[in-house]
Amino acid sequence: MGRPIRVVVADDHPVVLAGLCTLVEESPGLQLAGAASDGDEAIDLCVAERPDVILKLGTRLDDFVLHANGVTALSHGPQGVEEERGIGLLGADGLWSAIRERLYDDAKPEFRNRTAWRATLPASALRAEMRSPLVRLWLGENAHLVTYPLRGGTVVNVVAIVRDRWNEKGWSAPGQVEELAAHFPPGAWASPARELLRLAENWIKWALFDSDRTFYGSGPITLVGDAAHPMLPFLAQGAGMAIEDAAILGRCLSQTDANPEIGMRRYEAMRGPRVRRVQREARDNGQRYHLSGLSARARDMAMRFLGGRKLRARYDWLYDWRPD
Ligand SMILES: Cc1cc2nc3c(=O)[nH]c(=O)nc-3n(C[C@H](O)[C@H](O)[C@H](O)COP(=O)(O)OP(=O)(O)OC[C@H]3O[C@@H](n4cnc5c(N)ncnc54)[C@H](O)[C@@H]3O)c2cc1C
Repeated sequence: MGRPIRVVVADDHPVVLAGLCTLVEESPGLQLAGAASDGDEAIDLCVAERPDVILKLGTRLDDFVLHANGVTALSHGPQGVEEERGIGLLGADGLWSAIRERLYDDAKPEFRNRTAWRATLPASALRAEMRSPLVRLWLGENAHLVTYPLRGGTVVNVVAIVRDRWNEKGWSAPGQVEELAAHFPPGAWASPARELLRLAENWIKWALFDSDRTFYGSGPITLVGDAAHPMLPFLAQGAGMAIEDAAILGRCLSQTDANPEIGMRRYEAMRGPRVRRVQREARDNGQRYHLSGLSARARDMAMRFLGGRKLRARYDWLYDWRPD
């Protein structure tokens, strides 16, 4: 927790934005703003470019009250308890969204018996044949490991997902490499994959949750990103969907001027089918990735048979999407 509630003021129409949002969207009436997940630099950039954006860091939204002309958000932060009044409220407060919980009685994401582990390491630490900036994926029984380059290939992101019962609700927790390595026993996993686990330091782990449903708002309130559609990371699309949400929501709000409810409902109708499909496909991918025995062999044969181009073409619906 401890991430911001962001208050955006455009013209005379303040919109309260709780949590993280990934895009600054141009619009004459309302402005949505937020920050990319890469940290404070991106937040600073947003604010520098938009003098009508006010950031309140370290401020947590606790509750909100609907009234005839919009919403009052109640938060507490470094300045103590505060009230922000706006014509709308956007919940971008992630998997454990307080705003979603307030809107729905039965909105708890479900634990899917898996944990994700993440660490980074300098590319220079890898053996020479592993340094080229490619995405690498190892699939195995009840686990998989993926690496991809960050920061121009100088840093490698390592993500392992394993079957697990640790299901602490929350954002993340430190992980011990010994515990992770036990999911990748010698003999069953290629040595470069096992070596990666040992090279990476500072593992962080997350219990993985998703939902069969999408959650949107009512009145002048809506949700974006993980708050709206908790999904498993087997398709690596959670942040992508949050960015798309922001693009479409910004556009819908800009078309409906000072009446955010119409724009919000339009946004929800536009996004629902796509994000539900991504939720489903991510879960299916989780099954496929962690197969064992004959099913795993059949999967491998099918992947070889299809080859890179056809495998990629199966996701044209996902990657060729454009916000028009
Ligand atoms: C291991 C792993 C790997 C992943 N890999 C990928 C990938 O490769 N590609 C991809 O697209 N996605 C990936 N994802 C998913 C991606 O991280 C999430 O889908 C994405 O971060 C969701 O963005 P969000 O803005 O909705 O929520 P978050 O990034 O969770 O941001 C929510 C923010 O709201 C703040 N907040 C919470 N409650 C409050 C409150 N009451 N008041 C104010 N602020 C609040 C939080 O502190 C947080 O800063 C991965 C996820 C995991 C776990």
